[in-house]
Amino acid sequence: MGRIELDSMRIIKPIGKLVNKTCNSCGSDVPHYVTRCKHCFNDFRDQNRKKKTNLILPLLVFSLGFMGFVTTQKMAKTQISKQSIVEQESESLIMIEMGIEGPISNRVPFSDITSLEYVLGGDSQIYELFIIDSKGEKKLIFGSGDSIKKRADQMAEMMNKKLIVTNNTRMQR
Ligand SMILES: [Zn+2]
Repeated sequence: MGRIELDSMRIIKPIGKLVNKTCNSCGSDVPHYVTRCKHCFNDFRDQNRKKKTNLILPLLVFSLGFMGFVTTQKMAKTQISKQSIVEQESESLIMIEMGIEGPISNRVPFSDITSLEYVLGGDSQIYELFIIDSKGEKKLIFGSGDSIKKRADQMAEMMNKKLIVTNNTRMQR
Protein backbone atom coordinates (compact mmCIF):
# COMPACT_ATOMS: atom_id res chain seq x y z
CA MET A 1 0.00 0.00 0.00
CA GLY A 2 1.13 3.51 -0.63
CA ARG A 3 2.46 5.91 1.91
CA ILE A 4 2.25 9.64 2.11
CA GLU A 5 4.05 12.12 4.27
CA LEU A 6 1.94 13.08 7.20
CA ASP A 7 1.24 16.37 8.77
CA SER A 8 -0.08 14.58 11.78
CA MET A 9 -1.28 11.17 12.79
CA ARG A 10 -4.61 10.97 14.46
CA ILE A 11 -6.84 8.36 15.83
CA ILE A 12 -10.40 8.89 14.80
CA LYS A 13 -13.64 7.45 15.92
CA PRO A 14 -14.80 5.37 13.06
CA ILE A 15 -17.45 4.27 11.55
CA GLY A 16 -18.70 0.80 12.35
CA LYS A 17 -20.55 -1.47 10.01
CA LEU A 18 -21.64 -0.42 6.59
CA VAL A 19 -25.34 -0.11 7.08
CA ASN A 20 -27.90 2.34 5.91
CA LYS A 21 -30.11 4.60 7.92
CA THR A 22 -33.28 6.36 7.06
CA CYS A 23 -33.21 10.10 6.79
CA ASN A 24 -35.62 11.44 9.38
CA SER A 25 -36.36 14.40 7.15
CA CYS A 26 -37.07 12.96 3.71
CA GLY A 27 -37.15 9.20 4.38
CA SER A 28 -34.37 8.32 1.95
CA ASP A 29 -31.99 5.46 2.62
CA VAL A 30 -28.53 6.89 3.14
CA PRO A 31 -25.26 5.33 4.30
CA HIS A 32 -25.11 5.45 8.06
CA TYR A 33 -21.81 7.30 8.17
CA VAL A 34 -22.81 10.41 6.22
CA THR A 35 -23.25 13.57 8.20
CA ARG A 36 -25.76 14.99 5.82
CA CYS A 37 -28.54 13.55 3.69
CA LYS A 38 -27.52 13.75 0.07
CA HIS A 39 -31.14 14.08 -0.98
CA CYS A 40 -32.45 16.80 1.32
CA PHE A 41 -29.22 17.89 3.07
CA ASN A 42 -30.66 17.13 6.46
CA ASP A 43 -27.86 17.29 9.01
CA PHE A 44 -27.49 14.09 11.07
CA ARG A 45 -24.66 15.20 13.23
CA ASP A 46 -26.69 15.75 16.34
CA GLN A 47 -27.89 12.17 16.16
CA ASN A 48 -24.50 10.76 15.21
CA ARG A 49 -22.58 12.16 18.12
CA LYS A 50 -23.73 9.39 20.39
CA LYS A 51 -22.35 6.64 18.19
CA LYS A 52 -19.07 5.16 19.26
CA THR A 53 -16.99 2.26 18.16
CA ASN A 54 -13.66 1.11 19.44
CA LEU A 55 -11.81 0.46 16.22
CA ILE A 56 -8.47 2.16 15.97
CA LEU A 57 -7.09 2.55 12.50
CA PRO A 58 -3.69 3.77 11.50
CA LEU A 59 -4.54 6.32 8.90
CA LEU A 60 -3.04 8.80 6.56
CA VAL A 61 -4.02 12.25 7.61
CA PHE A 62 -3.97 15.51 5.79
CA SER A 63 -4.39 18.57 7.92
CA LEU A 64 -6.06 21.59 6.48
CA GLY A 65 -4.46 24.90 7.04
CA PHE A 66 -7.58 26.74 8.05
CA MET A 67 -6.41 28.00 11.39
CA GLY A 68 -8.06 31.25 12.25
CA PHE A 69 -10.14 31.27 9.15
CA VAL A 70 -13.45 33.03 9.35
CA THR A 71 -16.31 30.78 8.38
CA THR A 72 -18.67 32.32 5.90
CA GLN A 73 -21.93 31.00 4.59
CA LYS A 74 -20.23 29.97 1.43
CA MET A 75 -17.59 28.07 3.35
CA ALA A 76 -20.24 26.24 5.31
CA LYS A 77 -21.87 25.07 2.12
CA THR A 78 -18.55 23.87 0.79
CA GLN A 79 -18.47 21.25 3.56
CA ILE A 80 -14.97 21.92 4.67
CA SER A 81 -13.21 19.05 6.22
CA LYS A 82 -10.44 19.79 8.65
CA GLN A 83 -8.67 16.62 7.74
CA SER A 84 -8.90 14.12 4.96
CA ILE A 85 -7.54 10.64 5.09
CA VAL A 86 -6.90 8.27 2.23
CA GLU A 87 -7.73 4.83 3.54
CA GLN A 88 -6.66 2.34 0.94
CA GLU A 89 -7.88 -0.71 2.86
CA SER A 90 -11.48 0.43 2.54
CA GLU A 91 -10.90 2.32 -0.71
CA SER A 92 -12.37 5.44 0.73
CA LEU A 93 -11.55 8.98 1.64
CA ILE A 94 -12.43 9.91 5.18
CA MET A 95 -13.25 13.55 5.68
CA ILE A 96 -13.19 14.73 9.25
CA GLU A 97 -14.80 17.89 10.51
CA MET A 98 -14.22 19.14 13.97
CA GLY A 99 -17.52 19.55 15.73
CA ILE A 100 -18.02 21.10 19.13
CA GLU A 101 -18.14 17.67 20.72
CA GLY A 102 -15.36 16.10 18.72
CA PRO A 103 -14.53 14.93 15.24
CA ILE A 104 -17.26 13.93 12.84
CA SER A 105 -16.18 11.64 10.06
CA ASN A 106 -17.67 11.21 6.66
CA ARG A 107 -16.50 8.35 4.48
CA VAL A 108 -16.50 8.84 0.74
CA PRO A 109 -15.80 5.69 -1.28
CA PHE A 110 -13.32 6.14 -4.10
CA SER A 111 -16.07 4.87 -6.38
CA ASP A 112 -18.11 8.00 -5.57
CA ILE A 113 -15.25 10.25 -6.59
CA THR A 114 -14.87 11.16 -10.22
CA SER A 115 -11.68 13.17 -10.04
CA LEU A 116 -9.60 15.49 -7.93
CA GLU A 117 -9.14 19.15 -8.70
CA TYR A 118 -6.12 21.13 -7.67
CA VAL A 119 -6.82 24.86 -7.63
CA LEU A 120 -4.26 27.62 -7.61
CA GLY A 121 -5.86 30.77 -6.28
CA GLY A 122 -8.76 29.28 -4.36
CA ASP A 123 -11.45 31.07 -2.39
CA SER A 124 -10.06 30.24 1.02
CA GLN A 125 -6.45 29.31 0.44
CA ILE A 126 -3.97 29.89 -2.33
CA TYR A 127 -3.70 26.17 -2.95
CA GLU A 128 -6.78 24.01 -2.62
CA LEU A 129 -7.56 20.41 -3.36
CA PHE A 130 -11.10 19.26 -4.07
CA ILE A 131 -12.78 16.00 -4.78
CA ILE A 132 -15.45 16.00 -7.44
CA ASP A 133 -18.11 13.42 -6.79
CA SER A 134 -20.27 11.49 -9.19
CA LYS A 135 -22.89 14.26 -9.09
CA GLY A 136 -20.30 16.84 -10.05
CA GLU A 137 -20.24 18.36 -6.58
CA LYS A 138 -16.94 19.77 -5.44
CA LYS A 139 -15.80 19.30 -1.87
CA LEU A 140 -12.74 20.97 -0.48
CA ILE A 141 -10.54 18.41 1.21
CA PHE A 142 -7.30 20.26 1.67
CA GLY A 143 -6.00 23.79 1.55
CA SER A 144 -2.69 25.45 2.18
CA GLY A 145 -0.72 28.61 1.74
CA ASP A 146 2.10 26.51 0.36
CA SER A 147 2.05 24.41 -2.76
CA ILE A 148 0.42 21.04 -2.22
CA LYS A 149 0.81 19.81 -5.76
CA LYS A 150 3.04 16.91 -4.79
CA ARG A 151 0.54 15.78 -2.18
CA ALA A 152 -2.32 16.24 -4.60
CA ASP A 153 -0.49 14.06 -7.11
CA GLN A 154 0.07 11.43 -4.44
CA MET A 155 -3.54 11.47 -3.34
CA ALA A 156 -4.78 11.20 -6.91
CA GLU A 157 -2.43 8.31 -7.50
CA MET A 158 -3.47 6.50 -4.33
CA MET A 159 -7.10 6.92 -5.27
CA ASN A 160 -6.42 6.17 -8.93
CA LYS A 161 -8.19 9.36 -10.02
CA LYS A 162 -7.40 12.00 -12.56
CA LEU A 163 -6.07 15.25 -11.12
CA ILE A 164 -7.43 18.35 -12.82
CA VAL A 165 -5.34 21.48 -12.36
CA THR A 166 -7.13 24.84 -12.40
CA ASN A 167 -5.12 28.03 -12.28
CA ASN A 168 -7.10 31.08 -11.13
CA THR A 169 -4.03 33.23 -10.73
CA ARG A 170 -2.97 35.67 -13.37
CA MET A 171 -0.18 34.51 -15.54
CA GLN A 172 2.85 36.77 -15.64
CA ARG A 173 3.78 38.10 -19.01
ZN1 LIG B 1 -33.15 13.43 3.57
